[in-house]
Amino acid sequence: MTSRARPFGPEVMRQLTLDTEPWLSCDDCFHHVDEYVERLLAAQEQAMPAMAVHLRGCPACAEEAETLVIPAAEDSGMDPRPVLAGLGAG
Ligand SMILES: [Zn+2]
Repeated sequence: MTSRARPFGPEVMRQLTLDTEPWLSCDDCFHHVDEYVERLLAAQEQAMPAMAVHLRGCPACAEEAETLVIPAAEDSGMDPRPVLAGLGAG
């Protein structure tokens, strides 16, 4: 095998085809928040627009995402503040 980048695996593609609406339940949000935070840190959050919409409108889930962003950003040597701003929490 070569080292060809595969940003979208089958699981991601499945989720993308499911998440065609801007609406997401808190339950769905909770299931995808880990992946969304990873994408935020990789500047690929545009792939999950329903998450962005939900987090802007749901303080509880936005807070959950914030608690994940901060340690994840620090692990990556990143400043979490711009990422938090991207959550719409600021
Ligand atoms: Zn929510």
